[in-house]
Amino acid sequence: MKKIMIIGAGFMGTGIAQICAQSGYRVHLVDNSEPALQKARTQISHSLHKLFAKGQLAEHPPAILERIHLGQDYGDAAQMHWIIEAVVEDESTKRNLFKNLDRLAAESVPLATNTSSIPITRLAAGLRFPERVLGLHFFGPVPLMGLVEVVRGDKTGTAVFEKGISLVKSLGKKPVGVSRDIPGFVMNRIFSAAFRECLELVDAGVASFKDIDEGMRLGYGWNVGPFEIADNAGIDTFLNVSRSLRSLGEHHLVSDSKILEDLAADGRLGRKTGRGFYSYDADGRKK
Ligand code: NAD
Repeated sequence: MKKIMIIGAGFMGTGIAQICAQSGYRVHLVDNSEPALQKARTQISHSLHKLFAKGQLAEHPPAILERIHLGQDYGDAAQMHWIIEAVVEDESTKRNLFKNLDRLAAESVPLATNTSSIPITRLAAGLRFPERVLGLHFFGPVPLMGLVEVVRGDKTGTAVFEKGISLVKSLGKKPVGVSRDIPGFVMNRIFSAAFRECLELVDAGVASFKDIDEGMRLGYGWNVGPFEIADNAGIDTFLNVSRSLRSLGEHHLVSDSKILEDLAADGRLGRKTGRGFYSYDADGRKK
């Protein structure tokens, strides 16, 4: 049975771990925070039981959970067939991690990043084997979203890119290849440009965030409005991605609005804290 290590057990890493285990892989989910690991286990168990009750799982949840091992260090990277990092969106954190993984993991093991904004080439710079680094940009909530961008850095090897496409297919997702390594890749650039305008319209008092969400659902067929997406993804993650895009020179994709900063300063990080643009009950339902 193939083993996949996922580093970062937050919103994205938890979802990636779940679908990998659901697809039959043995998963090592690593985070440097014990509470994050415990929350991940609870979240995965809850999600699997819900899917099972709806008849959408072929196996009983305990059999899937049994394939997930939780831990605080990535020392057993040498035994893995794939490593996917989904730690916080911070270039130096990700680069340090890849430097260590480059030393620990066998040369043949692909190192994937779930970064939303940082070019793969920058994360692979200075590694012994930069050809094994690629982007696997999942969308959240991972168990529900069908798309994964597979991103080629300047040095990503063709065999590694093809392995990425195969892995994504084996997880029941649709891979979309991104052949130029630019900040934010494709989908996040488009979303960021739209979201910048959404924030500025709210800031200028032209429309409320609720009306914009409803407008994008009813007028453009989005399943989820842009501010609902921000709450789902995490206001802190959105802020990190905005800072990252700005630092990479992509100013036109980022708003000067202080709305996100104000929410974060108030502890309103979205669903994860029960309040963001919207408020949520204990079961995560929008109030
Ligand atoms: P998150 O804040 O929910 O989780 C990040 C996790 O990383 C935390 O549990 C934290 O404890 C852990 N962590 C931080 N540094 C670590 C380290 N050095 N070693 C081990 N664990 C560490 O963030 P998230 O929303 O899951 O985002 C993770 C990555 O996925 C980011 O790069 C983000 O840009 C990207 N991403 C996020 C979304 C989204 O919708 N939130 C979508 C696509 C991609």
